Amino acid sequence: MICLYPTMTTSAPDIVSLTDAESRRLGARMTVLAQAMADTGEVTDFASTGWLPDRFFDLLGELNATYDAYIAHNISASALKIQCRFGCTRCCHQAVHGVYSFEVIHLYRQLRSLPDYGDIHNTFVARADEFQRLVAEFTATQTSATPNDAIAAYALQKFAAAAKPCPLLLGNNCRVYEHRPVPCRMYYSLTHPMYCTTPHGQNFHIEPPEEANAILWDLSGRLAFPFSEYLAQGLVSFAFRRQFRPWAAPVAST
Ligand code: SF4
Repeated sequence: MICLYPTMTTSAPDIVSLTDAESRRLGARMTVLAQAMADTGEVTDFASTGWLPDRFFDLLGELNATYDAYIAHNISASALKIQCRFGCTRCCHQAVHGVYSFEVIHLYRQLRSLPDYGDIHNTFVARADEFQRLVAEFTATQTSATPNDAIAAYALQKFAAAAKPCPLLLGNNCRVYEHRPVPCRMYYSLTHPMYCTTPHGQNFHIEPPEEANAILWDLSGRLAFPFSEYLAQGLVSFAFRRQFRPWAAPVAST
């Protein structure tokens, strides 16, 4: 599915191949992988064990690689003039949202052992606080109940305008590029990067195919701890739940 980013100001991009044979093949493979993740037995016990096996994350790696191929195929088969270039990080200066809970778990596994993890965590806490301040700022001006979508749109746009870098950005490189979550993979622009964090950016998403996406969101809900699909809030929330140790297998009781 192609989805326009909220700041998009022009008509939908002309992507032509979403239902061609190669798209269907890659989409079907994603569905198989998503289902295999969902069928992983340890998912059921995650709330008590705080642990998932390596094969779960191996499946996630294969799913991401297949999704990248799906995106690349659809872009190459279209007439779109994508302006994204290697080394550009404009889209890394926004609030990443739409993250599955298992992506938060996966990222936490990668980050927790880094020597500067404490600094990364503190920066995520600061970003989460900044976003919350924007939410509070907007709701304080409202006289009646405001839909959550409107509140989120305001906070996202203000946050993007401030252009604070993602705490996982090091220079022009994402420190978790191979493991970056779906919202970071799906984002493309038809306009110059200088417009990406403004209302003039013609940005769009190539979302995962519907069937796989439905399985993944259901799995995300089954695993969810007190969870936010915003990357900063999700990681901070996960880090505070000390019972989760997703990198180490539970010790068998004797
Ligand atoms: S996780 Fe990586 S790709 Fe995503 S916003 Fe952060 S630095 Fe950019």
